[in-house]
Amino acid sequence: MEPRASHYILLLLVGISLANPVRKPGPPAFQPIPGNVDITSKFLETNKGSSEHLLEGDLLFPKIKNALYCLNNNNNCFWKKNSSNLVEVPYTLSSEYSSTDISIIKNAMSTFHNKTCIRFIPRLNQTDYISIENKDGCYSYLGRIGGKQVVSFKRQGCVYHGIIQHELNHALGFYHEHTRSDRDKYVKINWEYVPTDKASNFQIQNTNNQNTTYDYSSIMHYGRTAFTTQAGKDTITPIPDATVAIGQRQDMSNLDILRINKLYGCVV
Ligand SMILES: [Zn+2]
Repeated sequence: MEPRASHYILLLLVGISLANPVRKPGPPAFQPIPGNVDITSKFLETNKGSSEHLLEGDLLFPKIKNALYCLNNNNNCFWKKNSSNLVEVPYTLSSEYSSTDISIIKNAMSTFHNKTCIRFIPRLNQTDYISIENKDGCYSYLGRIGGKQVVSFKRQGCVYHGIIQHELNHALGFYHEHTRSDRDKYVKINWEYVPTDKASNFQIQNTNNQNTTYDYSSIMHYGRTAFTTQAGKDTITPIPDATVAIGQRQDMSNLDILRINKLYGCVV
């Protein structure tokens, strides 16, 4: 899908820091991201050559709208519940994926199924659906845009449990955690290390925080050196405790799950 020039397209980084990953208890039911990999740099590199007009990282905005406050409050940017109160998100999968890729993607989807009322289901003939494709980066639109919408997981660099969860969360309508409306109380943006052309990636959004607390351990939070102009310098520093870990891409946090359930009115 080629976004029109008039569309406001915004790409946001898959911000990852594995220096202090926030791990949830229990055995990992997924393929972990290899150790000692600078995933922030890797994903910046992965998305850099994208033919999509990705201004930043991994999020496409086809329209000017907020994820959690739909235009006209009509909820048209969210996925719909079926008669069983389950929220169906039909998907198609590119034939370019290997069986291993597919099992990783489906396993990531299953975490939504186990803990929320979201159900990613193979598409039959539904009009609105996500098309999971091996394109040139890791990215998604924000919320349901209507019709076919691409979610890209490049085979080289994007097929990881946490990355898949992250992009699927965008498709459900979630912004990055560090751009939520109250973030200035929880993180400091070090603008001196933010490239001018990436500044919009750090701007506060008018988000619906659903009375949930700020979540440093969110799968939707950037890593501390995301887009930094100077190696080793933070663009995002947690406050008041600068040592708090941010940017994990291992698994959705409890708050990530809670917010999905709140946004979609899941009874779990
Ligand atoms: Zn993102």
